[in-house]
Amino acid sequence: MSSERTRRDFLKTGLFGLSSMAAFSALSACSTLDEYIFDDQFDLKDQVLIVGGGISGLYLAYKLRQTRTEFRLLEGSNYFGGRVRSAQGLDFGASLFDRSDVHMQQLIKEFNLTTISVSKDHFAISGGAEMVSQALQNRIAGLMPYRSLRLRWKLVSIRVKDNKYETVFETPNGRRTMHCRKIALTLPPGQWSAVNGLLDLPEMLWARDWLTTLTPENITKVNVVAPNTGGVMSLANKKTRSAILDKDSLAVVAKPLKNNQVGLEFEYITKQVLNPSTFKIESPNNLEIEKIVDLINAKTKLGLSFKKLNSDSFFDWSSVGLIQSAYFKNDRPLPGNVNKNPHFQVFGDYSASKKAHTVEGALLEADRVSSLFV
Ligand SMILES: Cc1cc2nc3c(=O)[nH]c(=O)nc-3n(C[C@H](O)[C@H](O)[C@H](O)COP(=O)(O)OP(=O)(O)OC[C@H]3O[C@@H](n4cnc5c(N)ncnc54)[C@H](O)[C@@H]3O)c2cc1C
Repeated sequence: MSSERTRRDFLKTGLFGLSSMAAFSALSACSTLDEYIFDDQFDLKDQVLIVGGGISGLYLAYKLRQTRTEFRLLEGSNYFGGRVRSAQGLDFGASLFDRSDVHMQQLIKEFNLTTISVSKDHFAISGGAEMVSQALQNRIAGLMPYRSLRLRWKLVSIRVKDNKYETVFETPNGRRTMHCRKIALTLPPGQWSAVNGLLDLPEMLWARDWLTTLTPENITKVNVVAPNTGGVMSLANKKTRSAILDKDSLAVVAKPLKNNQVGLEFEYITKQVLNPSTFKIESPNNLEIEKIVDLINAKTKLGLSFKKLNSDSFFDWSSVGLIQSAYFKNDRPLPGNVNKNPHFQVFGDYSASKKAHTVEGALLEADRVSSLFV
């Protein structure tokens, strides 16, 4: 039997009937077989190679799928969504969205998702923000998910060779080299120097200097996004503990400051306090959840009570090596010519001129980049 025949038979009998994502999981379990069955190409020619499967990479792929532009999306970690991460309907990364977020609102409509009103200006996604990245993933996957989407493909080096980008990935089956003419890099800036050759590319000459003004923020986000069910505090720091609040919705951001102080920023406390407020406390090293709640209560007189969650019920951001520091800022814009290259794009929430450092900023950027590749 010819190998072509075997492939076709497998597709008919083994793949049809499975949902696309189920097929994706099944196939990804054995990627050598996948490579054989799908006749893997290592020269992508004009297909767009998207590196990083956070919301920026997923949305770019979604837009390219709509215009029938071929792409490959390779994600280094073992899940899609990056800093959009939820469990049991609760958000540990992005959680609150602005009612003026046009792209986000559009996706909610397209995917038929329901929202939770958190304040006059903000909402959360019922079931968690990951509902959005999952819906994108399902739409992108297509009939042969393994062709379009891959997990555990981590970019480790890049260079230009024969007028193409030569990229090397660490994969479950060892190193793989891919060549392409069009590439979109959505890795967080904190990861750029970990990719051999990236900062030496002529397209990235501005980046070393830009990185000197990048400030990683060690934020512990205490967010509550399920007002009707009591809400959960999730803490992005091993030293702290998660807790369930049994009152209204609030989001508190704890930032270590100089002089052993920590700043607590209230984003929203619905009903009782409408305006965001900030105050500072001392001894950040012992910032236990009990202490935070005591402080909030002392300042706001909300009388919040809480119970602890098991440690496996909250997400430890420090375990996601490919997203360094989880939260980082650089308000310095990227040089203008970087935005216009139709072969090489490096972008994400940080490169947005509006709504930077948010999911909406990432979507805006992916939208812009998609029009360059079409
Ligand atoms: C705790 C926290 C709370 C937040 N709260 C909000 C909020 O309430 N509202 C809001 O709008 N935004 C919020 N944000 C910001 C929001 O999550 C981000 O703006 C958005 O998710 C960024 O998406 P991205 O795709 O650009 O980057 P990322 O999500 O960082 O995605 C980058 C992807 O690249 C992958 N990657 C990295 N290196 C490699 C490599 N070498 N090879 C292959 N893949 C690689 C990573 O694994 C990751 O999946 C929050 C972020 C955090 C951390």
